[in-house]
Amino acid sequence: MRRVLDTPMKYLANQKMNKFMKRALKEAKKAYKKGEVPIGAVVVKDNKIIAKAYNQRETKQDPTGHAEIIALKKASKKIKSWRLEDCDIYVTLEPCPMCAGAIIQARIKNLYFGAYDFKSGAASSAINLFNYPWNHQVKVKGGILESESKELLQTFFKSLRK
Ligand code: ZN
Repeated sequence: MRRVLDTPMKYLANQKMNKFMKRALKEAKKAYKKGEVPIGAVVVKDNKIIAKAYNQRETKQDPTGHAEIIALKKASKKIKSWRLEDCDIYVTLEPCPMCAGAIIQARIKNLYFGAYDFKSGAASSAINLFNYPWNHQVKVKGGILESESKELLQTFFKSLRK
């Protein structure tokens, strides 16, 4: 919901964040359909999506098969550089320590995430890897379309228990 106190600039910025997070959610739903934990990510450069991915840990039987890692790899391939300095990443769930590390290594500008992961989130919940004085600092904002991401995950885990 738009808050009454938001300035027009802030309102537009929120609209943009929501738009890209919705695309990340679409990716998360693809994971869901394949029986993977529903987490999606998109990498954005100059207001355009240059890479999108979803969690494929089970499909690939790969411990690094997280949405963020796959999206970062695709983005680097696309712009032919491991330096994703002018890129933002949108992830539906707070990144784990591995992905947080990769996001820092890739020199991502902004990280936007949806739901908080109180068990293993590395962007404030369990630990905050973005708080250290690394050479590169990523700006972090969580809680974007939080309830959508959370509900998707909850529905998935509920269906597993059945
Ligand atoms: Zn991860």
